[in-house]
This record gives sequence, C-alpha cells and structure tokens, in this order.
Amino acid sequence: MMNSYDAIVIGAGVVGVSVAFHLAERGLKPVILERKEIAAGATGRSSGLVRMHYDLEADSRLAWVSFQYFWDWHERVGGECGFTRTGFLFIESPEHNESVSANVEMHRRIGIPTSTISAADVQKLVPSFKTDDFDIAAYEPESGYADPVLTANSFLAAAKRLGSDYVQDCAVTDIIVNADKVTGVRSTRGDFSAPIIVNAAGAWAGKIAEMAGVAIPLDTWTHDVAHIRRPAEVGDHPTVIDSSLNMYFRPDSGGLTLVALEDDNRLGEAPDSEVGYVAKDFVERAVERICRRIPAMENGSLHSSHVGRDGLTPDQRAVIGAAGPRGFYLATGFSGTGFKTSPAVGLCMSELILDGEAKTVDITGFDPGRFARGEYLRGEHDYGDLWR
Ligand SMILES: Cc1cc2nc3c(=O)[nH]c(=O)nc-3n(C[C@H](O)[C@H](O)[C@H](O)COP(=O)(O)OP(=O)(O)OC[C@H]3O[C@@H](n4cnc5c(N)ncnc54)[C@H](O)[C@@H]3O)c2cc1C
Repeated sequence: MMNSYDAIVIGAGVVGVSVAFHLAERGLKPVILERKEIAAGATGRSSGLVRMHYDLEADSRLAWVSFQYFWDWHERVGGECGFTRTGFLFIESPEHNESVSANVEMHRRIGIPTSTISAADVQKLVPSFKTDDFDIAAYEPESGYADPVLTANSFLAAAKRLGSDYVQDCAVTDIIVNADKVTGVRSTRGDFSAPIIVNAAGAWAGKIAEMAGVAIPLDTWTHDVAHIRRPAEVGDHPTVIDSSLNMYFRPDSGGLTLVALEDDNRLGEAPDSEVGYVAKDFVERAVERICRRIPAMENGSLHSSHVGRDGLTPDQRAVIGAAGPRGFYLATGFSGTGFKTSPAVGLCMSELILDGEAKTVDITGFDPGRFARGEYLRGEHDYGDLWR
C-alpha cells in the first residue's frame, strides 16, 4: 500500500528527527510528517546550550549521553552540529550552596566531568565577571553550545540516508485508531499508515495527543532572547546559567553574547498564535541583568532579538513514553530545555519502541501518566522551577 511505513513521527523538530534517525538505525522505515519545514518550532529558535547540570538525575543522564553525540557528531550521526566548547558555569545564590555541591557529586558519580569551584576561581577564569554575590559555582569544562538547526538537519539527512522518508507542509489532522491500536494518521497530504506513531509535535503536542484520546497537561512557554555585541574589554566568557540573577548567557559567533531571562516568560499562549516580538521591556531588563554580572557590558550594543515557544509541563520536565492506544508514543513537553537531550531521547525512544524499555537511560520517571497520578518530578536537591 502507498504511504505505508513502520513508524510515523509527527514533527520535524530536533526531537522528531532524532527519533526517526534512531529508529532507522535499528532497521525501521519511518516517515516524518512536518506541517511546515524542519526546525519551524522551538528548535529553530533555541539557544542551543549543551550542559549536563540538572537537579534531576535522569535529565543529567540524558544530557551526558547526548553530550557524547555532540562531541563526536561526525562519527555518530554525520554532518555538523556546530558544537562549540566554551566551558559552562552554573551560578546559584548562596542559599543553594548545598544543593549545588550535592548535584555536582551526583554528576561526578554518573561520570560527567564537573567540579565545584569558588567565586575566586570563577574570577580567575573570567576576569570580567563580578563575583561578590555568590560563593561557589558548578563548572563543566567540556560543555558549551551547539547549533540546533544544523543538528536537526544532520539528524534528518542521516535518517534519510538510512531509508526514512520526510514529508513537509504536511499537517497531521487526525490519528486513526482501530481496536485500541493506532493504525495511521490523516493529514493535509493524505493518509499514512503505520503501527507506531510518535508525537514529537512540540508546543502543539497536546492537540496531537487529543487526536489519539490522550490528555496531557501541556501548556506553552514563550521565551525572549537577545544578542548583544560584546565590547572588546569584556573578552571571552563561558556559557553560563546564572540562576542567582535569573538569567543565562553564552558567547556566539561574531563577537556576540546571547542573553535570556528565567523570569517573566509568557506562559499559556495559544500554540497557534504568532510568537511575535520580544516583550516591550525585555531588552532593557536583559541588558541591566547582564551588566550586573559583567559590568563592562555597559558599553555593548543590541544586535538583535527573537522569540521562541516550547511545550511546558506542570513540573517543567519532559513527557516521554507510551500512552493511550497501543503503538502511540509521546516525546514532548521539553519545557525549554530539550535541545541538549535530543540525541539520547531519540535513542531511548527507539529502545522503548523496539525492546519494550529504554536501556541507555531509565526514562520511566518521564511517564506521561504521572500528572494524572498527581506525581511531579523533582530533583533530590531541587532548585525549584526554572521558568517563572
Ligand atoms: C527560545 C528558546 C531557547 C531555548 N534554549 C534551549 C537551550 O539553550 N538548550 C536546550 O537544551 N533547549 C533549549 N530550548 C528548548 C529546545 O529548543 C526544545 O525543547 C526543543 O527544540 C524541542 O524540540 P521538539 O522537536 O520537541 O519541538 P519543535 O522544535 O517545536 O518541533 C515540533 C514540530 O512539530 C511540528 N508540528 C506541530 N503540529 C504538527 C502537526 N499537526 N503535523 C505535523 N507537524 C506538526 C511543528 O511545526 C514543529 O516543527 C529552547 C527553546 C526556545 C524556544
């Protein structure tokens, strides 16, 4: 039959193409259906931070497995992912010192190259930083950032080399279920059949889940980002999550610094509404915030700004696993942090689908049914919600 596949992956964001690549590596013939074009959603707007520091072990494990792809991209996937090693600092306010140390311990146990360093060490590492408001930071010397659009394109090219098909401008409009098993989808480009369907539709995944009779509490998170031209006196700096100032930043090519804020993100906008422009006062707030950490940035100038949107769950952790009719899987709800883990998520999904469970990382905690049971994922040494 025409349009018949081993698996249908809905959405050509970095997660969907990673899932398709890993299924194809295991010998399946998937098709990826994308309503617009590759990286049209969160992936195309992502800041691309690649680090392993999380307060939840399963997230750190996914990030660590994924890091090894970014590091060795050409061999593992082929093409480019644009990984740039800058070193990574996680800065938290002093009341979280114990949590930072405990989480670094957990990361070291997993094998992640990281350590706790003092504010004085941070000052030596980055002389342009002001360091009088924190005591310690977590430092990952190997981490940095990658290019999400390049990453997604390389995954897609590799999936196609292994026999996957890709159909763009193809919006899935319904899921076909027979005798409690998925059998295919209806779309704006006709029907496709497969016994396995993976919902990787990002901020739109709630709608796709509903088509299969599955309810997931998926909200949206709309996030502003600025690029600032760095004055020469600032020099180089690493990639930083500066939770004590509710901000993250990283260097970018062309002497730029990307800055974004953890607070005042817009929650709950309709997935189909235009992302539009950054909030009215965002640039001022971002500049004020970065100058608190790097005073010499005062002489910088705005280069550009943009907005992106991701799916957000109640515990700000992903939803990964089977749900509803047999053959229906979710890999979504990445809540603003799903780029760096996308290689491992694709691998684990292929294991779950083909072997009945993910073996590389235990992903059972991300079970889509947890919210209905009133269970929220929290780290043992929790920093609280990232986005506010
Ligand atoms: C501004 C911003 C900054 C970020 N920074 C980072 C970061 O530094 N590090 C990090 O790890 N993560 C970051 N993230 C999060 C990360 O980018 C996302 O979690 C990740 O890209 C999600 O990928 P995805 O494939 O799940 O979703 P998406 O990239 O949103 O892809 C979903 C795709 O599904 C398609 N689709 C929707 N409905 C349908 C339909 N009916 N039929 C067919 N296709 C459909 C969409 O068009 C879209 O292309 C950031 C996100 C944003 C928005």
